[in-house]
Amino acid sequence: MAGSDLTISALTVSYGPVRALRGVDLEVPHGRIVAVLGGNGAGKSTLLRAISGTLRFHRGGVTSGDVRYGGKALGRLGPAGVVAAGVVQVPEGRHVFGRMTVAENLRAGAIGAPRGGQTDRVKDWVHELFPVLVDRAGQRAGLLSGGEQQMLAIGRALMARPKVLLLDEPTLGLAPQMAERIARTIERINAEGTGVLLVEQNASLALRLAHSAYLLEVGEVTLSGPAEELAATDEIQRRYLGID
Ligand code: ATP
Repeated sequence: MAGSDLTISALTVSYGPVRALRGVDLEVPHGRIVAVLGGNGAGKSTLLRAISGTLRFHRGGVTSGDVRYGGKALGRLGPAGVVAAGVVQVPEGRHVFGRMTVAENLRAGAIGAPRGGQTDRVKDWVHELFPVLVDRAGQRAGLLSGGEQQMLAIGRALMARPKVLLLDEPTLGLAPQMAERIARTIERINAEGTGVLLVEQNASLALRLAHSAYLLEVGEVTLSGPAEELAATDEIQRRYLGID
């Protein structure tokens, strides 16, 4: 349904004199998983900040182009307005509220949810996806392992009932087994109809999960297409998958 695609058009973003994105076009079609690959400093986090309306917290701004969800421009809505529109970011580095309990973190996530009294149902679903969050409900989030904090960060974002989830390096620093668990959960979330924009340095995992993918290099999209096509290119195999 084209009406609920996330569309980024000719997006240029600067931090003062530093141009971090140059004319980026990208689309997350309704209910799809789209991966963005790229090395350090390519502009991946900047892209997510531009979508979620958080650029100004990093002294950045959109110079030209726009971001639309379901045809509606997100650019002027601000972070809370973007969440209310259904686009919710799980930030890099977990960023759970460390001094609050797991249960309080989940409740905080529901603040941005559309009205409609579905909070208990969504919480049950989050608990089903991540049973460990039930066991740890009364514990301070800062005491969880890295993998558990990532689960909580995703669970907290789901409490806002996103239509599109923005994931910034969800497997960074996790053991391979935990990274796989997170990957399976992303698939389950997507199977419920939630679109996913996945920024990952782990190209092999991202290309397995995604329907389509983009390669970002120094602020520009240099390759894009179906994930399996990108995975078959020399460029991706050599530089991002470690295949000679
Ligand atoms: P990483 O994986 O290292 O986070 P990235 O692909 O997410 O990399 P960005 O963090 O988006 O890349 O950075 C893109 C460019 O913008 C880099 O050149 C970076 O130095 C610059 N940049 C990012 N944040 C700021 C900022 N707050 N002020 C100035 N320059 C910034």
